[in-house]
Amino acid sequence: EAVKPANFLRAIIERDLEAGTYTHRPYGGTPGDAAHHAAGQPDPAKVRLRFPPEPNGYLHVGHAKSICLNFGLARDYGGVCHLRFDDTNPEKEEQEYVDAIEEMVKWLGWDWNAFGTPHLYYASNYFDFMYRAAETLIERGQAYVDEQTPEEMRANRGDFTTPGTNSPFRDRTVAENLARFREMRDGQHADGSMVLRAKIDMASPNINLRDPAIYRIRRATHHNTGDKWCIYPMYTFAHPIEDALERITHSICTLEFEDQRPFYDWLLENLADAGLLAHPLPKQYEFGRLNLSYVVTSKRKLKQLVDEKHVSDWDDPRMPTLAGMRRRGYTPAAVRKMADDTGASKTNAWIDYSVLDIALRADLEEQVPRAMAVIDPVQLKLTNYAEVFGSAEHREPCSAPAHPHHPELGQRSFSLGPALWIEREDFAEVPPKGFFRLFPGNKVRLKYGYVIECTGCEKDANGTVTAVTATVVPDTKSGTPGADAVKVKGVLTWVGVHDGVPAEIRLFDRLFTEAQPDAGGRDFLSVLNPGSKKIVQGYLEPSLAHAPPEARYQFERHGYFVTDRLDHRADAPVINRITGLRDSWAK
Ligand code: ATP
Ligand code: MG
Ligand code: MG
Repeated sequence: EAVKPANFLRAIIERDLEAGTYTHRPYGGTPGDAAHHAAGQPDPAKVRLRFPPEPNGYLHVGHAKSICLNFGLARDYGGVCHLRFDDTNPEKEEQEYVDAIEEMVKWLGWDWNAFGTPHLYYASNYFDFMYRAAETLIERGQAYVDEQTPEEMRANRGDFTTPGTNSPFRDRTVAENLARFREMRDGQHADGSMVLRAKIDMASPNINLRDPAIYRIRRATHHNTGDKWCIYPMYTFAHPIEDALERITHSICTLEFEDQRPFYDWLLENLADAGLLAHPLPKQYEFGRLNLSYVVTSKRKLKQLVDEKHVSDWDDPRMPTLAGMRRRGYTPAAVRKMADDTGASKTNAWIDYSVLDIALRADLEEQVPRAMAVIDPVQLKLTNYAEVFGSAEHREPCSAPAHPHHPELGQRSFSLGPALWIEREDFAEVPPKGFFRLFPGNKVRLKYGYVIECTGCEKDANGTVTAVTATVVPDTKSGTPGADAVKVKGVLTWVGVHDGVPAEIRLFDRLFTEAQPDAGGRDFLSVLNPGSKKIVQGYLEPSLAHAPPEARYQFERHGYFVTDRLDHRADAPVINRITGLRDSWAK
C-alpha cells in the first residue's frame, strides 16, 4: 500500500521508536493478573495501540476513522492494535453489539491477531485489578468515600471561575475509607448514596482534577460479570488502567478527552509508584473527531432515527453506521482510503461527504464490471425491425466489454429485438435547445447497436408518452465496417424488452438537507430529506440475471450500484444506488 501522509501522531511514534522509549518493556501473562508485569518477556510488538469501543451501539463512520487510524499505525510501525470492549458500564451494553463490532472491524479489513495471539480484550476482565487499585489509592491517602448528595457534590465542585469546596468527608481516615468502600462493594449501601473519589485538589484550575469520582454503586447485571459486582469503576478511572494493563504505548483518543489527560497521568504514576503497574506507562494523545457533512454520528441520535422509524434499521443504507454503509455498497477500501486521506489533526474539522464518494469511485472505477440499466423506463418500438432483420423473432446479438480498460474481464452479451427499454428522459416530442437524443426526425445510436431514427411516439388519454417509435438504419451496427457513415450526436443506453431483467432499484440520497444537521443545537430531525429514498422498477441487461448479493456494477451513465446483501434474489433482483458517477454532494 502507498506511503501514508505524515501526521503528528506518526511524528510522536517515530520519536518514541528512535528514543527507544518502549524498547525494554516487559510483556506477558494475562492483563489484569497479579503476575502480569513481574512475568514479563520483552514485548515483540514495537508499539501497542487500541480501539476501545463501548459495546452500547453500532459502529459508525467516526469509529471507522479511529479504527483505521489505530490499526493502520500498528501495521505501519511493527506493532499491534488491540480490540478492547470498554464494557465498564453495565446498563447499556449487550452481546449483540459486541458481535456486530467484531464483524465490522473484520469487514474493514483489520485483524487483532498478531504475534501468535488474539488481542481481543474486555475491560470488565480487569474489575478485580481495578478494585485493588482503588484500595491502593485509599491506603495511600489518595481516595475517600464521599457521602455528599450528587447535588452537593455538583455545587461544591465550583466552576471555571470559582475553586471548589472540600467535602466534609474528605479527611476521613484510611481505615474509615477502607471500611466504607468495602461496605459499598458488599452491597450495604444504596445506589447513588456514596461514591469513591480520588483526593487531588478541589482548587485545581482543571475541573477534572477536583476529586473526580472513580467508583459508584450500581446494582445492575453486567453482560460479562453478571451480578458479581454492585460497584463499577468510572470511565476516567478504568480507561487508563485498561491501557496500562495491556501495555498500550500510545493511547489515542478524540479531543474532548484532552482535559482528562492530567488525571490519566496522575492515576498511572501513582499506581506505578505503589508497585501495581510498571514503567514505561502509556501516554494519551488526542486528535480531532471526524465530522462528515450531511451526517450525524452521535449514537444517541442514530438510535433516535431507528427508534422513531425515520430509517428502516441500523443497517438502513442511508445510515452512517458501518452496517448501513456496507449495505449501501461502500467498500472497505473506500472507507479506509477516506480515513487515510483525512489524516489526523489537532482540530475537529468538518469533512465534505464527497471525500468518501471520491474514495469509492477510485476503488470501484478500475474493478467493477459495467452494465446497462434503465431506471425510468419507457418502451422504444423499432417499427421496421422485421424488415431489416428478416423477422420480428430474430434477436440481433450485441456485445460490449465488461470493462473498457480490462479486456481480461471478458465480454457481456445481450441482443436487440423489436422492443427495447430506454430512459424516459431520452425522448422529447419538442426538443429543448441542445437536446441530442430522441425527437421526431433525429438520429441517435443505440449503444453497442445500431443507429436509429425517431419517428414519433404513442400517448395515452392523459397525454403521457407510452412508447417512442423509431426505425433502424441498416448497416450501421457498432464495430462493423461503415458503422460510422451515419454521424450522430447522441448515444443511448438501452435494455431489450425480451431479455431485460426487471429489478427493484433503490435510489438513495443524503439523509439530511443541511450539511451540518445538528449545528447550533438545531433539531436534526427538522432537516430530514424527504426524498432520501426512492424505489423504482427498472430493467437490467441480461448479464445481471444471476448476480449474487453484494455484487457491484457501474451502470453506464447512472453511477455505481450494488445488489442488496439482504433483499436481493437472483429471481427478484434488488439493487441499491451507491453513488453517482460524479460528485453531486458539494454545494
Ligand atoms: P458516540 O459519541 O457516537 O457515542 P463514543 O465515542 O461514545 O461515540 P465509543 O464506543 O466510546 O463511542 O468510541 C470508541 C472509539 O471511537 C473512541 O476512542 C472514540 O474516541 C472513537 N470515535 C468515536 N467517534 C469518533 C469520531 N467521530 N471520529 C473519530 N473517532 C471517533
Ligand atoms: Mg464513549
Ligand atoms: Mg460519545
